[in-house]
Amino acid sequence: MKTSSLEILQSPEVIVLAAGHGDKDSGATFGQFKESEEAITIVDRVAAILKERDVNVTILPHELDLEDSIAWVNKRFKFGEAWVIEVHRDSADNLDPDDASRRCGIYTGTSSRSIEVGTFVRQSFLRHGAHSKSWNRLHTESPRGSLGWIRQTIPAAHLIELGFMEGRNDDEHLTFLARVAGAALYEAFTGHSFEDTVSRSRAVELVSRKTRSHGLSREVTAAAATPSSADLLKSLATAYRDIDLAAVFKKVKADVRPEDYSELKEATLAQWILESGWASSKLAREALNFGGLKFRKELKPYATEYQYTDWQGETTMYCKFETLEAFITGYWAFIQRDVYRGWTEHTGSAADFIDYLLDCGYTTSDTYLNEVMSLVPKAAVLLG
Ligand SMILES: [Zn+2]
Repeated sequence: MKTSSLEILQSPEVIVLAAGHGDKDSGATFGQFKESEEAITIVDRVAAILKERDVNVTILPHELDLEDSIAWVNKRFKFGEAWVIEVHRDSADNLDPDDASRRCGIYTGTSSRSIEVGTFVRQSFLRHGAHSKSWNRLHTESPRGSLGWIRQTIPAAHLIELGFMEGRNDDEHLTFLARVAGAALYEAFTGHSFEDTVSRSRAVELVSRKTRSHGLSREVTAAAATPSSADLLKSLATAYRDIDLAAVFKKVKADVRPEDYSELKEATLAQWILESGWASSKLAREALNFGGLKFRKELKPYATEYQYTDWQGETTMYCKFETLEAFITGYWAFIQRDVYRGWTEHTGSAADFIDYLLDCGYTTSDTYLNEVMSLVPKAAVLLG
């Protein structure tokens, strides 16, 4: 059931995924990390994400080099029969760590139909948590002058670069990048929204859940072994929508004027989308901690301690929440601590609130405000 609006993707029935570089060519390296190995990991995960949603996927044999890969594709597929994607990781020095971790890009062919796909995929990358500097570019603008993968393959071909080797390389982050790529390829290829599409295994679970009308968050916790991030995020948004913020503020003893609640849910849900990578992070999946909240004594009524190693290799205690409601209240208890004193005077708009948290040292990322603000409309839609 394909409804892609992208002309070049209307007839292909299969996505062919290839991992960049190969046996002898490790691509870019960073410490012990090799681009070629990470590309294989990501390709396998993207394939799983797409297959779970009934997309026809073929993985090109990982042992082939570029020339043999192109020959392999051209022997099997004519133009219009497949969409072929080669997956790479980027490499550059002196980038901001967050940018290096999450900036993604897509190289296109030079036809307007190929460029149209690139524009779409970049937007989808951004919607699914990629950095705002993510790009789409003609393959003729690549540092190599042009890309054989795009120039010589007969079917429609693109090449994607997922984050930089100089950014995060941990397994959780590779899962995040696979999800960003999987979501973008899915949306471009099928014309359906990734968030609206429940994987088959989860669909069965959701139907059975609907027959029981209460205790949603508890069941989400129980199902945490294999949560779909899209479902988890939807559950969080629903729980948040149904919560009375006035009651939460009363509980954490925050004095906020009722007329100032208007954008607070949108602003904070946007933060949680950003910080949890659309609910795909390990902290979100295993601890219902969508805000990356470290454990503090003020959080004791709501959370237990959870040991977690962040992407910089620092191991410390984070909060683990048993229910979505506990996370939501816990988040506001976290904000109500002394370090953010005065936040109650900055609740008139999403930007004012986030800006105030940044003034108090919430994060050192200089793109945080823009990134959260770009997610506020999406958060509003999720909140219904
Ligand atoms: Zn590469």
